[in-house]
Amino acid sequence: MVNRRQRLHLEGIVQGVGFRPHVFRLAQQLNLSGFVGNDSRGVFIEIEGPEQRLHIFRELLVKRAPAASFISALRVSECRPRGEGEFSILASRRQSRAQALVSPDLDCCRRCLDEVLNPSDRRFRYPFTNCTNCGPRYTLIRQIPYDREHTTMAEFAMCPACLKEYEDPGDRRFHAQPNACPQCGPRLSTGLDEVVASLLAGEVIALKGVGGYHLVCDAFNPLPIQRLRQRKGRFAKPFAVMVKDLEQARRLAYIAAGEAELLNSRAKPIVLLRGRGVLPPEVAPEVEALGLMLPHSPLHHLLFSESSSQDRPDKLRALVMTSANLSGEPIVYTREASRRLEPLADKLVHHDRPIETPCDDSVVRLLRGVAMPLRRSRGFAPFPVQLAFDLPPLLALGAQLKSTFCLGRARQAFLSQHLGDLDNLETWNHFERALHHLRKLYRIEPRGLCLDMHPGYLSRHWAERQGLPLLQVQHHHAHIASLMAEQQLGSDARVLGLAFDGTGYGSDATVWGGEVLRCGYGEYERVAWLKPVPLLGGEAAVRQPWRMALAHLWAAGLPWHPRLAPVAQAGPETLPILQRQLERGLNAPLTSSLGRLFDAVAALLGLHQVVEYEAQAAMALESIADRSEPKSYHFGQPFDAGPVFSSIVDDLCAGDSIARISMRFHRAVAGAAVRLCRQHSEGLAIALSGGVFQNMVLSELVIEGLQACGFKVLWHRQVPPNDGGLALGQLAVAAHQRGELCV
Ligand code: ZN
Ligand code: ZN
Ligand code: FE
Repeated sequence: MVNRRQRLHLEGIVQGVGFRPHVFRLAQQLNLSGFVGNDSRGVFIEIEGPEQRLHIFRELLVKRAPAASFISALRVSECRPRGEGEFSILASRRQSRAQALVSPDLDCCRRCLDEVLNPSDRRFRYPFTNCTNCGPRYTLIRQIPYDREHTTMAEFAMCPACLKEYEDPGDRRFHAQPNACPQCGPRLSTGLDEVVASLLAGEVIALKGVGGYHLVCDAFNPLPIQRLRQRKGRFAKPFAVMVKDLEQARRLAYIAAGEAELLNSRAKPIVLLRGRGVLPPEVAPEVEALGLMLPHSPLHHLLFSESSSQDRPDKLRALVMTSANLSGEPIVYTREASRRLEPLADKLVHHDRPIETPCDDSVVRLLRGVAMPLRRSRGFAPFPVQLAFDLPPLLALGAQLKSTFCLGRARQAFLSQHLGDLDNLETWNHFERALHHLRKLYRIEPRGLCLDMHPGYLSRHWAERQGLPLLQVQHHHAHIASLMAEQQLGSDARVLGLAFDGTGYGSDATVWGGEVLRCGYGEYERVAWLKPVPLLGGEAAVRQPWRMALAHLWAAGLPWHPRLAPVAQAGPETLPILQRQLERGLNAPLTSSLGRLFDAVAALLGLHQVVEYEAQAAMALESIADRSEPKSYHFGQPFDAGPVFSSIVDDLCAGDSIARISMRFHRAVAGAAVRLCRQHSEGLAIALSGGVFQNMVLSELVIEGLQACGFKVLWHRQVPPNDGGLALGQLAVAAHQRGELCV
C-alpha cells in the first residue's frame, strides 16, 4: 500500500482548547504517523498513511474538533513521505507574525466540576481545577503560542501527578496549560469554609476571581448590601447577582428559554432579566431588570456547594457580585492594588495565580430571541469580530465613557474588553497596558489612529502624542458603522441608520443624539434629527434631568407650572435665571439627543430629578411602562417633541397614571422612528444603534413597527449598541477613508 504525507495548517481558536490532543488521539486511532504542534499562526500537522485513512482523518479533524475551538482556515498541501512510524507532539514554533487567536476564558466544564465536588477525587474542593476543555485563557496568557511558560502559570511547577496528566495523550489534561492541583497549584489566601462563613455572617468580601476582584455579599441579606452601597457611595446602580444554578435563577427572575441558554452559555455572562421582586430592593433599586449570572469558575461553584465539614441549612443561594473598583475606575486585579479595597470590604480574599489581563463580567440581554451584548468582556474578548472587508492596521480609540479600543488586521477587528471611563488616570493606565498587551499578542503595528470628533475627549490628547496620522469619525456615523461591520455588510453597503443615543459631538459643533443618517462606511448624510433644544447647564444636564425637562417645556412653549416635579425641583428663585439662560443661550448648547429626551420625560413624570449614573432616569422610565397601554402620543413634523410634551402635561394634570404615560411616550418615539424610515429609507435596510436601543421596550416597538412595514431591520448581536461598540465603527469608517488620513 502506498503511503501519502500531507501538511495541514489550521487557524482560528485552535490553541488552549485541546486541539493537539485531539489530533494526537485521532492519528493514533487511525494508526497514522507524523506530528502536530502549535505555531504563532495556529496548529501545524504533518500526517502520513494510506489515502483512505488520511481522508477520514481530515474529516474527523473538523467534525470532532473540541467544543471550544473555532477553525477559521484550513490549508492542506502534499509533501514527501518520511516513514517515521509514529505520531508525536512537537514543541511550539515561534514565527514572526502572530496569527493564532487567543481563546476567551472558558467556564468550568462538567467533568472538572464533578471532580471538585467528589470527596474521593484529589481535586476535591480545589478552586483552580481546569482541563483542556475549560478554565482561564485570555486573562492569563502573556504571549502566544499558548504554552505554559507563556502564561501566568509559568511560576507553578507541576507535581508528578499533574505532570503525568499533562504528558499523557489519553488524558483530558494532556497539555492543559493551566493544569494544577492542591499540591502544586495556586491557593486561596483564606479557607473556603471561612469565606462561606463570613458571607453567611453578613460580611462584604473582596474576592479575587478569574478576571479581577469582586465585591461579594449575601444577596438575601439587605444589611451588607446597604453597607456596600454606603461605602461605595453608589446608591442606585443595580448590582449583579450570582446564583448557584438555573433553578435558583428561576426563583429570582422570569426566564425565557433563550435567556436560560444565555445564562448557561460558556461565557457565563450577566444576563439582564425581569426580576420577580424576591431579592431585597437594595440589590437593584427602582428597576425591574435584574442581572443574574451562573458561576463561571470552580471557586464560585464552591461558594454555593455544601461544606464538607458542617451541615449548613442556611447555605448561600445568591450572592451580590460586583466588580471591585473605586467609582469609574477599572476593576482591581493585583494584590497590591487590592489594598485600595480595604475601605469597601470587611475582608480581602486573594489567590496567587496572577491575572495578566483583567476582565470584567460581560453583560447581555435577549432581544427578539437573540443576545444583544451591553458589555463585551470576560468570555468574549479578545475573540475578533469577523468583517466582510479588509482592514489596514489601524487603532480606534472609542469613546470617553464605557471605553474600549479596537485593533484591525485583515478581516478581523479585535475589540478590547471593557475598560471603564477614560476620565480618570487609573483607567488611562489600564487602557495603555491593555493596548500594549493586545498589540504584542497579535503583533499589530497600527499605522493610523481613529478617534471621535469631540475636541474635549482625553483620547485626543493621547492620540496627538503618538506621531501617527489621525482620522476623525463622527460619533453617530461610527455607531451605525459598528452595526454594519458586525453584520458583515460589504464595503459598498448602505443603510438608513437610526442613531438614538445619549450625547455625541456633531459635525456642526452641536450635541447630537437623535439622528437619522443615510450612510455607507465612507460617508453619511444627516437626513433628519430630533428638533434641538438647549442642553440647559451643559454637562450638568446629564446628571440633573430636571434641567432637560425645563428645556423641553420651554422649547415647546409650555408654561413652567409650579406643580410639575422638575419646576418644583428648580425652585421659584432660580426659575427666572434659567429662563434668561435659555433665552440668551448661555451655557445651553443645542442638542438633538434622544437619551436626554428620555431623561426629560422621566423627570417630568417625577421619577428622577437628579441621577447617579447616565441611564438611570431612562431605565426607570422603561421599567414603569405599562405594556398593555395601546395609546400613543405623536411627534410633530419632522421630529419635534413639542406636541408630545404638551400631551404629557395634559395627561399629568388630568391625573393619568405615569405607567400609561410612559408607554404612550415609548410608542410615540417608535411611531416617529417608523415614519422617518418610511420618509427617508429609499429602499435601504434600517440599522438601529446608539445607547437608547438598550431600552428593550423601545427596541421591541421599533423593530415590530418597522418589520410590519416590510423593512429589513438590523440590530446589534456582537458588539454593544452603546459607546462600548464605538471603536469598531470608527475602524470600519476609517478603513474606507484611507485616502483622507491627515496628520
Ligand atoms: Zn474541565
Ligand atoms: Zn499538581
Ligand atoms: Fe454614543
